[in-house]
Amino acid sequence: MSSDSEYVCLDCGCLLVHTNPITLESMKDVHNQLCPMKRQKATPSQILTQPQAAPKAMPATMTKTADSAAAATATSVTTSTPAIGASDNTTIALSGNGTNYSKQEGPIDPEFKSKRQVVGTFRGIKVWGPIDPPGQLGVWGTQVTVDYDICIADGACIEACPVNVYEWLDTPGHPSSDKKTFMAREKDCIFCMACENVCPPQCVKIFQKGT
Ligand code: SF4
Ligand code: SF4
Repeated sequence: MSSDSEYVCLDCGCLLVHTNPITLESMKDVHNQLCPMKRQKATPSQILTQPQAAPKAMPATMTKTADSAAAATATSVTTSTPAIGASDNTTIALSGNGTNYSKQEGPIDPEFKSKRQVVGTFRGIKVWGPIDPPGQLGVWGTQVTVDYDICIADGACIEACPVNVYEWLDTPGHPSSDKKTFMAREKDCIFCMACENVCPPQCVKIFQKGT
């Protein structure tokens, strides 16, 4: 039976669990779009009007608990800084001798794209300056954007994302936190807004395609 923290799909029996009702609602929406039993019942025209998401990214049973810090750490990937080189589409470094430190309070400026310039890329992800590594890192991403100078690395966005967009990225020397959530699979985002809603300092901003 469904409750405030659980949802049981009556079509396929899948159990979704999360103590944050906003995140649970997002998980329900994603499941309802991808549930194979629901899709079998739907008419072809209904299926065509539903948003399409990558099935490979949806676990068969999507069960998450709010014991998030430990779980996020256990299930996420910690990525060391790769060497700078055109081959991996990386043009900026995370280390350096920068003297500017930028530990800021949230929220992220929703208008940052009109105020900042793209100063480079990291594994293909845009980085909006100014930056002065390691203490000032700017805003990262295009659709899934995170202000790295605000992020405190609590992992709530990693735990909330139903399609595994994020992974950890080490950022030693940054005054807010020595790791950040890197939107490595930004293209897989289904715009459920869960990460934006759960981020404590509100440093995540999701832009729908074309915005
Ligand atoms: S990155 Fe996209 S899919 Fe993942 S939680 Fe955020 S809005 Fe949802
Ligand atoms: S929820 Fe916000 S503060 Fe926490 S790790 Fe994600 S982006 Fe950083």
